[in-house]
Amino acid sequence: MKSLVLVESDNGVVSDATLRAIGAATLAGKPVDLLAFDAVAAQAAARIAGIEQVLLAAFDTAPTAESLAAVLPGLSPHYALIAAAHRALARGAFPRAAARAGCAFLADVTGVSSDGHFVRGMYAGSVVANVASENVLTFATFRASSFAPVAREGGQADIVTLDAPHVYSKTMLIERQAAQQSGQDLSGARVVVAGGRGLASKENMARLGELANSMGAALGASRAAVDAGYAPNAAQVGQTGKTVAPDVYLAFGISGAIQHLAGMKDSKMIVAVNKDPDAPIFSIADVCLVGDLFETVSGLEARVGARSA
Ligand SMILES: Cc1cc2nc3c(=O)[nH]c(=O)nc-3n(C[C@H](O)[C@H](O)[C@H](O)COP(=O)(O)OP(=O)(O)OC[C@H]3O[C@@H](n4cnc5c(N)ncnc54)[C@H](O)[C@@H]3O)c2cc1C
Repeated sequence: MKSLVLVESDNGVVSDATLRAIGAATLAGKPVDLLAFDAVAAQAAARIAGIEQVLLAAFDTAPTAESLAAVLPGLSPHYALIAAAHRALARGAFPRAAARAGCAFLADVTGVSSDGHFVRGMYAGSVVANVASENVLTFATFRASSFAPVAREGGQADIVTLDAPHVYSKTMLIERQAAQQSGQDLSGARVVVAGGRGLASKENMARLGELANSMGAALGASRAAVDAGYAPNAAQVGQTGKTVAPDVYLAFGISGAIQHLAGMKDSKMIVAVNKDPDAPIFSIADVCLVGDLFETVSGLEARVGARSA
């Protein structure tokens, strides 16, 4: 039995999150095949190091969760694990496919061991559960930032074209919109610059977004900042937003409510800037700066500007 990982790509470039999901699946100790949805992505996937076989399910347009869920159970006899990065497509498709196949779905897995155990957070990250699936097949989504990526080049896998997949006609993907204010994908970013209510205006949040862009970072925000209209919904980090675990998380004017911490506490280094020395975020921050956030932002802008000049 093998593992199968979904390939997500942009303009023929396999996403970093996919490379990390493959890294996670490799930890399960079984050979890994890939499933791509167009010929260009399949060719890029075939060059990834350590892959034996790429399955090509050539959808006419980008597959929806419903169409993908109809394809996956047909592949299941060959696989013990069907996995993907914890992103919208797999989050929609896998529970449906798992229900059809009558087997388990594990979401947002942060650790994998070769003895078949998976690690995942529960109750907004308050509990770390070590779970094992008793099914022959398990569907799982992996939190990309918790795993190292495999090499993008170095492999020479076979490409096997599957029969034309049945397309579920009642839903279709109409449009994709890139996140506003910062071009970086928040979930997979190595550096996140996040702003809270302390930013005090949409203009100040846009300024933070520019700083994030010039640092090659993604912009994040607290729910209070999103509710106030400073930042788009897509930027929200926390229990009801995105979960991130970047190398560095810079929090500006964020108090550190438990619901916010649930989405970022696994970041490798947390730098918090807050004028309140008793702000709860300081209890989990590695670097605590007590003071006015705008002074720190100005200082960083000067440093980043000097570096690019
Ligand atoms: C069911 C539920 C789900 C929720 N989900 C989420 C979620 O997913 N994500 C989330 O973030 N929240 C979530 N919340 C909301 C959460 O409880 C907090 O209300 C929110 O995180 C507070 O955002 P904040 O830290 O930006 O604002 P505040 O708590 O108001 O903090 C603002 C901070 O900015 C500081 N500050 C102000 N001006 C400056 C300055 N000039 N310089 C430096 N510091 C300054 C202040 O000292 C303060 O600490 C949820 C709440 C509930 C009930």
